[in-house]
Amino acid sequence: MLKVLVINCGSSSLKYQLFNMKDQSVLAKGLVERIGLEVGMLKHMPYCKDKIEVSDNIPNHKVAVKMMLDALLDKNHGVLKDISEISAVGHRVVHGAEKFSGSVKITDEVMDVLKECVAIAPLHNPPNIVGIEAAREMLPDVPMVGVFDTAFHQTMPQYAYMYGLPYELYEKYAVRRYGFHGTSHCFVSAEAAKMLNRPIEELKMITLHLGNGSSITAIKNGKSIENSMGFTPLEGIIMGTRCGNIDPAIVPFIMEKEGISPDKMNEYLNKKCGVYGISGVSSDFRDLEEAAKNGNKRADLALKMFSYQAKKFIGSYAAIMNGLDAIVFTGGIGENSATMRQMICKDMEYLGIKIDEAKNQVRGKQADISFEEAKAKALVIPTNEELMIALDTMSLVKTA
Ligand code: ADP
Repeated sequence: MLKVLVINCGSSSLKYQLFNMKDQSVLAKGLVERIGLEVGMLKHMPYCKDKIEVSDNIPNHKVAVKMMLDALLDKNHGVLKDISEISAVGHRVVHGAEKFSGSVKITDEVMDVLKECVAIAPLHNPPNIVGIEAAREMLPDVPMVGVFDTAFHQTMPQYAYMYGLPYELYEKYAVRRYGFHGTSHCFVSAEAAKMLNRPIEELKMITLHLGNGSSITAIKNGKSIENSMGFTPLEGIIMGTRCGNIDPAIVPFIMEKEGISPDKMNEYLNKKCGVYGISGVSSDFRDLEEAAKNGNKRADLALKMFSYQAKKFIGSYAAIMNGLDAIVFTGGIGENSATMRQMICKDMEYLGIKIDEAKNQVRGKQADISFEEAKAKALVIPTNEELMIALDTMSLVKTA
């Protein structure tokens, strides 16, 4: 039985899922949190067995990988008898820059290139690299694959990915737009084509991955031609705690007025802004919807800003594709919030979008929420980045 382990490392966390690729079922999944902090925690959820939680000092990702493997092998809560049952490991990597337009088998040379990418993704790639290194050390004989959030968007045309900055900055520092959440956009667009029972090669789609981080993609004939995120995942629509598009002149202005250093400013724009900064309530849309219902004006404003900006992207993406067959909602908000889907889809009949409020009351499962006669379909499709990573990993390992 082919078992593929998928690992997604953040700066202080490691998420994992072990798949049985025969039927794509999840054998176990889990999360190691608070790595490097005083007390860390492993939560391990095996399929058909009791889950466990272990708190311990988890000083680094190597220890986290060891804890994950121990849990997978545990007599009572594990799902493996021997570590050799793991056929391959797939790693999520945030930024592949222009170096990777698809997933790759990890070698020493690939590791060197990944390290080069840190220059343009200092916030996101280091934890991914640390996780890969730890896994390679603990599982030296297991083939590993890197799957990049940016890869799917490498089909964006140059006139879409360039900024209006001197061309030399692109040549010297690779400053350009990359786009993110590619694994998710790719997965849901393929699922959407299946749902519509049409070849993806003839579809014009807009996929909205709306979660803590949100991005929107224009997918024409199966290829990403535009994504709302840019050089980093800060660009685009307003997000949970990220500002999204702002006038760049605001950045030095605030730095000067508030005495903020470049490092701190990056953190500020990533962590203190977005709907959280606007509302002062929360970055979680459940809290915002509740607060808005109870009359909180700033929570209401944050929700209106989010839906308005999503609507603007949809309009502009329909324009660049010269039409629209479907919009797809995914991510925690897209999959679960009927309110937000309704706000975004309101008054878009001109694009052929018309959603049925009864059908829209769906949560977390695939559904067509449009009226029968709607020319452009509105679909809800739960994303499954882990499965996509496992599938890519399997196909690369098989063909090796
Ligand atoms: P990430 O980008 O971290 O992967 P998710 O895609 O899991 O995040 O999305 C998490 C967000 O989804 C939460 O912050 C919350 O705002 C939103 N969310 C989850 N469930 C609901 C719901 N029922 N209604 C509204 N928003 C929800």
